[in-house]
Amino acid sequence: MTEFKSLCLYCGSAQGHNPVFHEAARYLGREFAHRGIRLVYGGGHIGLMGLAADAALEAGGTVIGVIPKFLIDAEVGHAGATELVVVESMHERKQRMFELADGFVILPGGLGTIDEMIEMITWKQLHLHDKPVVVIDLEGYWGALLGLVDHIVAEGFARPQVKNLFSVVRAVDEVFAALAAAPPARIHPAPGRT
Ligand code: AMP
Repeated sequence: MTEFKSLCLYCGSAQGHNPVFHEAARYLGREFAHRGIRLVYGGGHIGLMGLAADAALEAGGTVIGVIPKFLIDAEVGHAGATELVVVESMHERKQRMFELADGFVILPGGLGTIDEMIEMITWKQLHLHDKPVVVIDLEGYWGALLGLVDHIVAEGFARPQVKNLFSVVRAVDEVFAALAAAPPARIHPAPGRT
């Protein structure tokens, strides 16, 4: 079973309306701390990400935030994080978060969360990494996006194996088993693909 020492959490810079999501963010923060897993995240003290970071810190965990200079005010750079890495751009943020993590976990979030999640999946599709990506589909939050992936496959714009690039769990406590079980998903380019 793979040991995860450092996991990246992508989730909303808003908290959203659903208290189930708030509790899930806190649960993950606490679980990372209890399991000795470093939390890598976007560095803000707002939204679901702030809840997760606070819970991890309260439980004695290590938290690294990666935040672009221009977002420190807007996303309230977390002054209590174990380390706050301040970068110049969104591209640098994504790259640093990617490098610092052994895998990626996605809670509900907005367009920024979608961007981050899809980028990790597409980088994996391009064989740029082989780290697990686990989408937590709490209360069907990501159902429409997962349906879009099915549609993309049905229309011939992706191969069915793209679904092996990430795992989907329905409950937050299923994350660790999914991370450990994630297959090394490799999609080889099809010759003559149209
Ligand atoms: P959101 O899901 O929109 O609340 O955003 C979640 C996090 O993603 C926030 O910290 C945003 O700053 C970040 N974010 C937004 N757009 C991007 C992007 N294009 N690349 C990387 N991170 C982003």
